[in-house]
Amino acid sequence: MRILVVEDDASLNRQIVAALEDAGYAVDKALDGEDGQFLGETEPYDLVILDLGLPKIDGVSVLNAWRRAERKMPVIILTARDRWSDKVQGFDAGADDYVTKPFHVEELLARVRALVRRAAGHASSEIVCGPITLDTRAGRALVEGMAIKLTSHEYRLLSYLMHHQGRVVSRTELTEHMYDQDFDRDSNTIEVFVGRLRKKLGVEVIQTVRGLGYLLDPDQGRG
Ligand code: CA
Repeated sequence: MRILVVEDDASLNRQIVAALEDAGYAVDKALDGEDGQFLGETEPYDLVILDLGLPKIDGVSVLNAWRRAERKMPVIILTARDRWSDKVQGFDAGADDYVTKPFHVEELLARVRALVRRAAGHASSEIVCGPITLDTRAGRALVEGMAIKLTSHEYRLLSYLMHHQGRVVSRTELTEHMYDQDFDRDSNTIEVFVGRLRKKLGVEVIQTVRGLGYLLDPDQGRG
């Protein structure tokens, strides 16, 4: 899962990015509305955290522009305390949730998890596919109830497939949602990660769909 953070307070931006990376997300950042708007228009994010008071272009205008351009990713706005009118404007522009500054980063992370899984059609924080459970709250995976150790890239890969189980996901799509903008991307490495992940899971749930990509099939891998 890949997230964009648009926040002009450099230290707060760093803090949010670090917390998201620790939680297993690929993260891009922007420090003003112009950069933020461009990234949100051109890169496929699973979620955006958007401050409203931004230099160059304000957050509400950025959000309006994205929604006009049919960009549908979930957006959490960051608002100042006592600015209820900001929240109204933000929701009217197409925000999905808000967090009031100052906030505990744990609250922001919980809202991120909830929106990411709801956008993919999952209501519970535990996503299940056959023998595999993804505990999005703890950021870990279990096979038949036993926790398995995954690297951050393996977790991102499994997390994306689990959120989108039952549909074929191409290698390009996986690459775009697993790595941040600055990462030297090579879609061939996905194959390597899938191989390692299959070995660690020990169950045949990730199918290769020749020429198209990978499918996590909820009806496979039993027994
Ligand atoms: Ca600001």
